[in-house]
Amino acid sequence: MKILVLNAGSSSVKYSLFEMSNQSILLTGLIERIGESLGVHRYRLAGLEPQTTEEVIPDHQHALRALFRLISTSAVIGDGELACIGHRVVHGGEFFREQALIDQQVIDRIDSLIPLAPLHNPANLLGIKESLRQMGDVPQVAVFDTAFHGSLPDYAYRYALPNALYHDQGVRRYGFHGTSHHYVAKQAADFLGKGLNEVNLITLHLGNGASVTAIENGLSIDTSMGMTPLEGLMMGTRSGDIDPALHFYLHRTLNLSLEEIENLLNKNSGCKGVCGENDMRTIHQMADAGDVNARLALAMYAYRIKKYIGAYFAVLGRVDALVFTGGIGENDHWLRQQCCAGLSALGIAIDAEKNRAPARPCGAIHTDPSPTKVLVIKTHEELEIALQAQACLEKSV
Ligand code: ADP
Repeated sequence: MKILVLNAGSSSVKYSLFEMSNQSILLTGLIERIGESLGVHRYRLAGLEPQTTEEVIPDHQHALRALFRLISTSAVIGDGELACIGHRVVHGGEFFREQALIDQQVIDRIDSLIPLAPLHNPANLLGIKESLRQMGDVPQVAVFDTAFHGSLPDYAYRYALPNALYHDQGVRRYGFHGTSHHYVAKQAADFLGKGLNEVNLITLHLGNGASVTAIENGLSIDTSMGMTPLEGLMMGTRSGDIDPALHFYLHRTLNLSLEEIENLLNKNSGCKGVCGENDMRTIHQMADAGDVNARLALAMYAYRIKKYIGAYFAVLGRVDALVFTGGIGENDHWLRQQCCAGLSALGIAIDAEKNRAPARPCGAIHTDPSPTKVLVIKTHEELEIALQAQACLEKSV
């Protein structure tokens, strides 16, 4: 079975075409700078060298046309062989606790959630609508970043705010990165030789965005991102948790507008705010060269992760494994060491050698007697979307 996964952003479309029998990627690519004077299409067909083409790509219609043309001219799959298209959708609100076969009602619901995800859902919808226009005879499935966190109990997802804000405006914690947390949780359970519903995990997705999830018997019961992806851990450019009264203070003292504060917290805070850089590799280079702000950013980043690990241990009671994933979680051994240092009271002990070079795509980095396992697992959000799309398709026939 062949499944195409699409991740449409406002000026880019990322895609991967999977052969599901062996979960291999037949074609993967990224169409960028949609709407700019010159667009770029980078792609790679299995077994061949990566290719880059430049052409004017005025909108998503042209981007998807270029993709479907490539699929057909490269003969990567035969006519009528595409079983399904899986679309990444950032916000599923309370409606979508799992993936959904796309019809007009699903489109309308995703549309109604735009106020909750004004940057992402409109772009995701553009991809869906255009893909339906061009490939309307292929079933299409929406897979939501929020869905895995649909199992959060009310005392974890509610904010201590007036009830009406929840009931009338949907003000609550939703959580994000769900496909990644779900995927690595399944991999961790496999690695531990248990069913997903038998394991308690703390999964740490540390990439440009970062979030941590407490998983009990395979279900997400708390997660660090909230109503938006701004809450929780310190990130590349996002502040994570702050005192909400800061908004009033910034407005009163600096006369910053709401838009300026929003921009400050999303784009100019986190690591970038503290040391001027958001790429973790560069921050390490700066720290190694003696930059005190880079050192502070690293210390803050690790400290905040450690606080969440402690909190989620308390929430879960028993933790089978702590799982690191995402670009930073998978690659930054220094950070993993820092996050786990001094946690022997929680049964966590890292083996320095194993931590330096964990097995790929799933490696254990704890010492042999460590009661809590510590795993480094490569995330694969596109594959998880394809798997969920496949499951949805099989359920619908
Ligand atoms: P996204 O959230 O956009 O998918 P990624 O998961 O790819 O991002 O993570 C990007 C982050 O991973 C960047 O901060 C990058 O510096 C960091 N990263 C990638 N490789 C390494 C490495 N070897 N050591 C430390 N950080 C790394």
